[in-house]
Amino acid sequence: MILIKKDLIFQDVKKLKGIGVQLSKYLKKRKIEKIKDIILNLPYSETDRSKISKLDNLEVGKIHTIKVFVKKLNFPRIRNLPNKITCEDDTGKIDIVYFNSREGYLRKLFPINKLVIISGKVNYFNNKYQITNPDYVTELENEEYVVKNIPKYNLTKGINEKKYRSISEEVINNLPHINDWLRTNFLEKYNLIEWNKCIKKLHNSKDAKNSQSKSFRRLVFDELCANFLSLSENRKRIKKDKTPKKFTKKKSETIVKNLPFELTKSQKFVINEINNDLLSNKRMFRIIQGDVGSGKTIVSLISIINVIESGFQCALMSPTEILAKQHFKLSQKILKNKNISIDYLTGKTEYKKKKEILNKLKRGKIELLIGTHALFQKKIDFKKLGLVVIDEQHKFGVKQRTDLANKGGNECDVLLMSATPIPRTMMMSIYGDMDISKINEKPAKRKKIITLSKPEKKIDELWPYIKKQVIAGNQVFWVCPLINDSKFFDYSSAKKKFEFIDKKFPNKVGLVHGSLNKEEKDKILSKFLKKELSILVSTTVIEVGIDFPNANLIVIENADKFGLAQLHQLRGRVGRGEKQATCILLFKDGLSKNAIKRIKILKDTDDGFLIAEEDLKLRGFGDLIGYQQSGFKNFRFADPVSHEELFNLAEKYVKNIKGNINQEYSFLLKLFDKAEIINTNEF
Ligand code: ADP
Ligand code: MG
Repeated sequence: MILIKKDLIFQDVKKLKGIGVQLSKYLKKRKIEKIKDIILNLPYSETDRSKISKLDNLEVGKIHTIKVFVKKLNFPRIRNLPNKITCEDDTGKIDIVYFNSREGYLRKLFPINKLVIISGKVNYFNNKYQITNPDYVTELENEEYVVKNIPKYNLTKGINEKKYRSISEEVINNLPHINDWLRTNFLEKYNLIEWNKCIKKLHNSKDAKNSQSKSFRRLVFDELCANFLSLSENRKRIKKDKTPKKFTKKKSETIVKNLPFELTKSQKFVINEINNDLLSNKRMFRIIQGDVGSGKTIVSLISIINVIESGFQCALMSPTEILAKQHFKLSQKILKNKNISIDYLTGKTEYKKKKEILNKLKRGKIELLIGTHALFQKKIDFKKLGLVVIDEQHKFGVKQRTDLANKGGNECDVLLMSATPIPRTMMMSIYGDMDISKINEKPAKRKKIITLSKPEKKIDELWPYIKKQVIAGNQVFWVCPLINDSKFFDYSSAKKKFEFIDKKFPNKVGLVHGSLNKEEKDKILSKFLKKELSILVSTTVIEVGIDFPNANLIVIENADKFGLAQLHQLRGRVGRGEKQATCILLFKDGLSKNAIKRIKILKDTDDGFLIAEEDLKLRGFGDLIGYQQSGFKNFRFADPVSHEELFNLAEKYVKNIKGNINQEYSFLLKLFDKAEIINTNEF
């Protein structure tokens, strides 16, 4: 019997007796590396071995437990013939068959004329029942070990179920004593139980399978606390003291006055929140969440002007070149005659030009640098960086975010912009370390996009309409779920559709999809942007941030294959200009109830936050656009729909933790692999 100490559970599984190099390799494939991973590897089901069956009452193909006398052992001397043990009870006979087993081992396991308990899958061969390589064989004294419901774990090939179970059982039976970080009255109030009890109960599949059982809820709560706690520690690290920025807002106010539109209330509110951050003595670490087209760019440009007025440099980073270029052109236009030096840097910038930019940056001669990831290469040194703005940042994880924040130095404020409205539960799990600003209002004069649905078989009715659009000089997006035709799915492929539409509108159609490299893709997108193409057939690869003000129709094929939030994002590619925009969703016949419900939501509202909440309810966490791309892993136990109340509770709980992280909380962080995010030297 091994005794597991508290600190041992964070060590390698190889520390356990019975786990050697080979087995540990297999366990690693199941992500079981530390002893604590065995604790968190819950059974997914159980095998009922609780009843002893008589031999005249066996069902072929089922798992049975039998109590039988060992009558005869047969070890053929011919290669490839199996060893066979004949057993019987008072109702019949059965053969137990072993391939590749040693004689000595079997003689020990099956003492002649003794009663044994055997459990395994029954088959029928040569007019006889047999069990091949049974899961359990044991003497009568050990009956209790087998004759019950036995938890079943998700394992990979190479891990013997019985062996794993005995290891897991040993670990669970020897759990270290934990000073529970939750008080008894808290546990009672919120229908949770103590940690040690919870783990024991969860290794019984009934509790593990019931996501609302007290024990499962406890584990969910712990997982959420670990997540929120690490975010809150990250926040403490970033929100350090800085010198407040100093500006009069005069410059930015003239710019606002000269805009061809009035800022929305939401935009003004967010600008104010940002200004307060800039003027405070703590670093800003803020994200603007706002639907596609809600006008985030101008908000960031106004902040940039204020920071430049304070005598600092700014950097604005976009995920793609096209987007960076759009931002560059826009800022040149808006900041014209304002005596601000702006430059543009991407991976493609020529060596000579790049050298010049680096040189100027170091001397503070560039005040605003716009570009792609290239902005954050090692060689790049700003003289006095005061603000980093990152657009469409949902492609970054916590670590990257923190790295970026740190790269700017202690005086550098950080502003992120995300065009993926996400549900609140997800927001707190992903951006819990940041301050959040929401723009939940569209520019006033924007026309609502008309959303229509149409069965695919009526697609021919569309061509005259599309022809009219093309002749009028409008542009059309055509989105398909697949790149190539597939044997497995009856979905439309972009390539095939391109060939088809290209014949109808020669030289007016472009194709982009994920297999193109960045350059090829950018080339076609630029052509579309310059209106050299009228129709763009694509998969979902086009970045949401690019402004195509002239596009006013989007057709989405197999629309039921996309998530709601994704459809909303796709739809947002049109309707950026003055013209009335339309989105046509094409479907095959025989839509599910769920699909019909989803279309209705999409037709009824264009509020991205509301759509994200609905999408979450209908499809779950993992499917949400942005979430997969963000690099954040799914929670292992917590579900944002069924455990929503625990999300809120954990958020509140973590907010009330005062002072430094104590031993119990570091234990919790280590349990869920969050400890590396913060600096703790305990354990
Ligand atoms: P996103 O939030 O998706 O980044 P953008 O900043 O690209 O949106 O803005 C989309 C379009 O809306 C731009 O052409 C921009 O000039 C325009 N816009 C921004 N704010 C307003 C406003 N308050 N009123 C009218 N148009 C606006
Ligand atoms: Mg944008």
